[in-house]
Amino acid sequence: MLISIASGKGGTGKTTLALLLASIHSDITLIDCDVEEPNCHLFLKPEWQDQGQEVAVMIPQINIELCNGCETCSTVCLFNAIAISGGAALLFNELCHSCGGCILACQQGAITEDKKLIGTITTGTSPIFPAIQFLSGSLDIGTPSAVPLIKAIKEKVSHLAGDILLDCPPGTSCSMVTAIKDSDFCILVTEPTPFGKHDLELAMNITHLLNIPTGVVINKSDENIGDESIESLCHIRQIPVLAKIPHSFSFAKEYAAGFIPDEFQAVAATIWSQLNAKGSEGI
Ligand code: SF4
Ligand code: SF4
Repeated sequence: MLISIASGKGGTGKTTLALLLASIHSDITLIDCDVEEPNCHLFLKPEWQDQGQEVAVMIPQINIELCNGCETCSTVCLFNAIAISGGAALLFNELCHSCGGCILACQQGAITEDKKLIGTITTGTSPIFPAIQFLSGSLDIGTPSAVPLIKAIKEKVSHLAGDILLDCPPGTSCSMVTAIKDSDFCILVTEPTPFGKHDLELAMNITHLLNIPTGVVINKSDENIGDESIESLCHIRQIPVLAKIPHSFSFAKEYAAGFIPDEFQAVAATIWSQLNAKGSEGI
């Protein structure tokens, strides 16, 4: 079963839940797809099996000898990555999303492609949790889109059987959509605040559009800080609340020191039993 763990907003406890669920499994692959700020490795302290697989995309190279400054490429580019300067096209690498549109559009054959490295995928096992096979993506600073790297990580595990957990990027951008796409089930982690509820609704809209069965985990559920209508929202949207996790100072303290505490293992076991039940029903 491919299970993605996502959240409409950052800081809700998505990675914590992913680690908690992985830590009590007997044989699982955990993927850190939060490639702009991967942090699962801080808790798993893995022994890396390799130096990291480099991931590259193709970006345009402009031959100014052939360019006549016709502006077709700059008009076609939706990301404003090409400007015309001094009668020739000028590319801003940092803005290019590697769509290839300008190459198709140029009638002068003035644009070719070249590789640009965007990040790495590392694989390892944790001496603390030997049942976890771990992959982590890391996006190079200044790379405009995490999508190609996330696709490469998912491709790398596409042949694997058994349970796979994806710790997704926060938010509801293209990166999150790419990470949760094709999941058998998506867990949305939220917190009982107005922001939490608002962003949860956005994330629910995406899983609905992608037709991915979804459940919600409410973190810091006992904090009297805001919106208690999350359960009503789940009820209206017919999305089950898989668990409610109360705030725990002792858990937070241990977690902040880089450990995955035992506390809430029973909650994680309850979530797994619900996931397994859904798996046996064919979800
Ligand atoms: S489309 Fe080709 S010829 Fe026209 S400005 Fe761009 S690179 Fe130059
Ligand atoms: S490849 Fe796409 S994003 Fe990059 S410069 Fe060309 S049109 Fe723009």
